Amino acid sequence: MAEARYRCGYCQTQQVVVNFLLEVEHIIPTATGGSDDEENLWLSCTACNRYKGTQVRARDPSTGRRVRLFNPRRQKWKRHFRWSKDGTEIIGLTASGRAMVEALKLNNELAKQARAIWRDADIHPPKD
Ligand SMILES: [Zn+2]
Repeated sequence: MAEARYRCGYCQTQQVVVNFLLEVEHIIPTATGGSDDEENLWLSCTACNRYKGTQVRARDPSTGRRVRLFNPRRQKWKRHFRWSKDGTEIIGLTASGRAMVEALKLNNELAKQARAIWRDADIHPPKD
């Protein structure tokens, strides 16, 4: 999916660095009324898709409030997230960004280890 720049809309994992196909996922899950229209589809890695499940809202760890999850088609990743200095962690900048980091376990150990290797190979963070 060229529009998604061949990367996961959530953790930004690039298709070229993983040995599985990124999945076309429903931004609003069909289980909660989301459609199959292109407007509701984006690319996701398997991990993000699994952790996201049928969630449309999640708790912002800073305020404890439940907020709508980040929508990669309508919102800009860089407004809601940034990379840590060493490039291994995703930092949520907004309520929905912070909620997303927690709900999708964007900084799980396996993801951080992979990002460190990708960073050392100079293929991470993805260049815009
Ligand atoms: Zn992902």
